[in-house]
Amino acid sequence: MTKKTYLQQSLRNGRIMRWADSCMPLTFFIAPMCFYSKKGEDYKYRQIVLRALDTWQKASKGRVTFAIVNSLNDSQINLDWKRVERQALGHCYFHFDAQNRLYSAEVKIGISDGVIHQGYMSEDEVYHTVLHEIGHALGLGHSPFETDIMYTPHKYGVVALSNQDKLTLQWLYKFQVGLTVSEIASKNSVYGNDIDEIVLKLIEKNEPSEFEKIKNELKSPQKDLLKEQENIADLKKYNLALQNVKISEDIRKFFVNPS
Ligand SMILES: [Zn+2]
Repeated sequence: MTKKTYLQQSLRNGRIMRWADSCMPLTFFIAPMCFYSKKGEDYKYRQIVLRALDTWQKASKGRVTFAIVNSLNDSQINLDWKRVERQALGHCYFHFDAQNRLYSAEVKIGISDGVIHQGYMSEDEVYHTVLHEIGHALGLGHSPFETDIMYTPHKYGVVALSNQDKLTLQWLYKFQVGLTVSEIASKNSVYGNDIDEIVLKLIEKNEPSEFEKIKNELKSPQKDLLKEQENIADLKKYNLALQNVKISEDIRKFFVNPS
């Protein structure tokens, strides 16, 4: 399994940029879909967004949580729909403060009118765009790896988060917001050319390789521990004999002089 993250592309001004932990749960407003007169379309697109939010929330392992709100005024992130453009299927505009803390994001999801981007009519591909743009709203940049949801341009058929997407989000939210790469390096005493190399070394440091695991098993003191316990038992027998404790003849025989 590859464990390569793409945090380097997610830095802003060379620093970690993300929502502060105190912002959780992030309030999220989903605008109603109003281009389709067909019944049920609004419900269908809303479900796609809810599924994407759930997917990112689970991927973050509890570090990112969302709360749906019914008013645009109460939300930190808004998601709206627009007619798809030739250049981009979706957009995300986000704002962050001087400490690199995100404080608002506007997501726009393109919906095909059936004329341009006809391949994009599928629900799965809309789901891909929703996942991708919410990824940006959480602070993720683009991935250079084609199998990732954060890869650009839109790769048809990629309709789930990869392990790399999940790992990148988790590490983004493990690091303190606003830190530079060299601050992270010195804090963790791990050095690398970029943040992703540092993350890889931190993962290796925390998860011993197969070779390390075998080496540790061989070194394991389990057998010696057993022997030691036997010795303690012997010692107890010896003590009993010395103290000449009053015990029944049968037990005395067993402990003191079994022969
Ligand atoms: Zn993008």
